[in-house]
Amino acid sequence: MNTAYEPTIGLEIHAELATSSKMFCACTVVDSTQAEPNIAVCPVCAGMPGVLPVLNQRAVEFGLRVALALECEIPPTSIFARKNYFYPDLPKGYQISQYDQPLARNGRLAILTSQGERLIRVRRVHLEEDTGKLTHVAAEGGGYSLIDLNRAGVPLLEIVSEPDLHTAEEVRAYAMALRSLLRYLGVNSGDMQKGVLRIEPNISVRPAGSQELGTRSEIKNLNSFRALERSVDFEIRRQSELLRQGKPVVQETRGWDEAADATVPQRSKEEAHDYRYFPEPDLPPLALDPGRVEQVRGRLPELPIARLRRFQEQYGLNAYDAQVLTAEMEVADYFEAALAAAPGAAPKSLANWITGELFALTNQAGVEFDPQRVPAQALAGLVQMVASGAINQSTGKAVLAEMFRSGRPAAQIVAERGLEQISDRGKIASLVRETLEAHPQQVKAYLNGKETLARWLFGQVMRAAQGQANPLVVQEELEGQLQRLKKAR
Ligand code: ADP
Ligand code: ZN
Ligand code: MG
Repeated sequence: MNTAYEPTIGLEIHAELATSSKMFCACTVVDSTQAEPNIAVCPVCAGMPGVLPVLNQRAVEFGLRVALALECEIPPTSIFARKNYFYPDLPKGYQISQYDQPLARNGRLAILTSQGERLIRVRRVHLEEDTGKLTHVAAEGGGYSLIDLNRAGVPLLEIVSEPDLHTAEEVRAYAMALRSLLRYLGVNSGDMQKGVLRIEPNISVRPAGSQELGTRSEIKNLNSFRALERSVDFEIRRQSELLRQGKPVVQETRGWDEAADATVPQRSKEEAHDYRYFPEPDLPPLALDPGRVEQVRGRLPELPIARLRRFQEQYGLNAYDAQVLTAEMEVADYFEAALAAAPGAAPKSLANWITGELFALTNQAGVEFDPQRVPAQALAGLVQMVASGAINQSTGKAVLAEMFRSGRPAAQIVAERGLEQISDRGKIASLVRETLEAHPQQVKAYLNGKETLARWLFGQVMRAAQGQANPLVVQEELEGQLQRLKKAR
């Protein structure tokens, strides 16, 4: 018998908040992948006895920005709680987090997949602090661990979704939409490699039609979208296969083994902790008056999904183009600046120049997109030269590559190299005549019925013009002259 299984996935996302100082002390936040270990540590984040935490208001504001952008409800007060457990990367023996009264609840995030748009519910958003970092060193006789507390006490925002996702594609779309949002809000760089954005999917599978969710596993240490997508796919297959064989799924935390392209057990529920949460006695409840919340709301930028919809309506772009252009605020700004500088240009054509040509050049050069590399005004200049017929499309591509390399404007490159498109009918007519005279055999074969040779002759004319002839005029002129030869026979 063939039972269908329905996967269900919910995501826990930890985002470090890009504040300059830590959550409860004045220590500087340093890049923990670059900085020398333990240079940004004080008695508070090292967990010395007798110290008191002081809440970073900037972190609260950043958290609020995200919560509001996710359309969450913001209760008037939230409570910090101690989450107690012992681990060497946690010097206090507890993590300050939020538990039953989080910063925000009941939000939603729109995602776009090949199936269209869906709203994914966000269960909660809460503030907490990051832990230190352990490095395990292998050595004879068992090895040892090194501890770096630079990251201990860095502000973290945890964003937990409802189990509303059902495919790896949706999981990827949700994670990417959230990353894009965090970057728009200026609260997180989205760098998964550096661990400032950590995505943990909870996955279960149930027989189709079943009301209850199946037993879930949770995957940790994913450092790319690719790993996220592949691990979710792997878990869906692994759990479906267990159910098919009538075996139970064990609730556990699993890790992603990149080399094996598989998830592997990390710890099972038996070892899971009882965190004995209790309210943090050293911090007052976090009260947010409506004035403050509204002030933060008023300063939110136009968000990716709103901008995507506007790009579709205002510029007539399809969902795909609009999404590629709006995923990064920098790119969206660049597109609109170029459009403003080239009022006559078709938005779709400008979108193609950016997402096709310019992104390809950027990828080939192995660099990040930089709006200054080919300034928006310079791109507008190039696109207008193509639109007006001054140069043709393929010359335009070559010119853009040169602009990307040298930073020089299109008009200068075109003038210097004599790349202007030849549209002059007389000039093109003689180019066609010369080409036909140079290839009498092919012309004869064409006149005898080998019609496909017209394309070849077209290529020869373009070649004689070094690619600079206006292809439409060449086409017309060539057809005309061949017709005349036909009639003359
Ligand atoms: P915790 O992991 O701390 O126990 P929760 O139980 O609240 O936290 O769930 C964490 C995440 O797992 C949420 O995103 C939730 O939607 C998701 N989740 C919970 N149960 C399941 C399940 N059976 N299948 C898939 N996802 C689940
Ligand atoms: Zn400190
Ligand atoms: Mg969990």
